[in-house]
Amino acid sequence: MGNELKAFIREVPDYPKPGILFYDITTLLKQPRPFARTVDLLAAHYAGRNIELVAGIEARGFIFGPALAYRLGAGFVPIRKPRKLPAPTAAIEYSLEYGTDTLEIHRDAVHPGQRVLIVDDLIATGGTAAASARLVEELGGKVEGLAFIVELTFLPGRRQLPGYDVMSLLQYDK
Ligand code: AMP
Repeated sequence: MGNELKAFIREVPDYPKPGILFYDITTLLKQPRPFARTVDLLAAHYAGRNIELVAGIEARGFIFGPALAYRLGAGFVPIRKPRKLPAPTAAIEYSLEYGTDTLEIHRDAVHPGQRVLIVDDLIATGGTAAASARLVEELGGKVEGLAFIVELTFLPGRRQLPGYDVMSLLQYDK
């Protein structure tokens, strides 16, 4: 689905450190039609699912999330790095390859029973997405799905999210 969009994603070797191939979506964003098609394809998957909120993960989930929310007639809420949100938050700590990281959401961002779609640009190991899903659920939200532009299928991202509707537009196996 939308495989022609791969041509607009820049692959940057050895960023941010040696051995990592970075999938840079800024080259897609600056092209009006590919950007619109990306948002439209994501929105089409969730049409009729009564998504009430799109939760975008800092930072690149803040780029696609609001566009998708607008398209779906939903609200947008940010899931942020620590100490960025001004009002009372719920927090979750999760493991990285080395060490841990934390994500936060405003406690009043999601009401119990609300149908939430989580969005980020890319799923790699799935740690960030799984932590985000737990955060939304801690507030009583129902995670209707998790949407990504890019999925690195050689990593266990999807396996961290059993039972969830995980969708990606573009899959890369290396
Ligand atoms: P993970 O928790 O391992 O699934 O990592 C996902 C998060 O890290 C997302 O917010 C991505 O934007 C970022 N990320 C991880 N690997 C890459 C990569 N190869 N290229 C671009 N972004 C990446």
